[in-house]
Amino acid sequence: MNTTEILHSATARLTAAGIESARLDAEVLLAHVLNCRRLYLYVDADKNLNPAQVERFESLIRQRAEKIPTAYLTGQREFLGLNFAVTPDVLIPRPDTEILVQYAVEKLSALKDNVTFADIGTGSGAICVSILKYVKNACAVTVDISQNAINCAKFNAEKFGVDDRLKFYVGNLFEPLRGKKFHAIISNPPYIPTSDLTTLQDEVKREPSIALDGGEDGLNFYRRIVDAAPNFLCTGGFLAVEIGINQAQDVKNLFEKNFTDIKILKDLAGIERVVAGSSLP
Ligand code: GLN
Repeated sequence: MNTTEILHSATARLTAAGIESARLDAEVLLAHVLNCRRLYLYVDADKNLNPAQVERFESLIRQRAEKIPTAYLTGQREFLGLNFAVTPDVLIPRPDTEILVQYAVEKLSALKDNVTFADIGTGSGAICVSILKYVKNACAVTVDISQNAINCAKFNAEKFGVDDRLKFYVGNLFEPLRGKKFHAIISNPPYIPTSDLTTLQDEVKREPSIALDGGEDGLNFYRRIVDAAPNFLCTGGFLAVEIGINQAQDVKNLFEKNFTDIKILKDLAGIERVVAGSSLP
């Protein structure tokens, strides 16, 4: 079979399995097997695949039809122009989170001295690694409760050459950071209400539930982070967190006790996605 034929039949199989992005996913997976860019699939549409390539592709299509996310099958996902390694131990970076990084990059770039920040619940490291990539005078620490997530974040930090400015801790939220102070604390914590976990898209159910489950009302981690963050911020430092749909007001209310100059930022889809505030003097 050539590239055109195999893509056609794989797209039909994925469509039948209820996958909306069937054609795109088939192309991404085939490009992965052939170790080429997607465009090349069109440039060389008559190219015949060898039996090993067909077998490898078939196996990936079978898994994708079972709703395993494409990013777990290829082991990578692009975030802010950087191709991050991902494993099933980490949440797949989403475009929703780009606004949080852009906000942090803007704010931290405006500070002159050596900037430090903490990323709480780092997962793949997409947030802290991309901030470090774009803010050259920054150093950071990153915490995750999962050793496997920290391993993935370390891999990405090395991949993008920022590992000399990043320290890694396995632990529960701020626990490993006692006595330290930062210019900023950034987090995309788990924020899905527990009872909603069963209603998520099949693909999202394949992601680690400890990266998604925000407790009964989805706000557990915000309560803990907003409470503890002032102890870890320099004067005038800021806290910025990603939030889920319809959580802006609740999270803003939590911020009001310990923070000033509170902002709610929308993502590219117009959804309120980030709450940020400065620590009280
Ligand atoms: N944005 C993710 C989702 O909607 C959730 C990420 C999180 O809980 N931090 O699936």
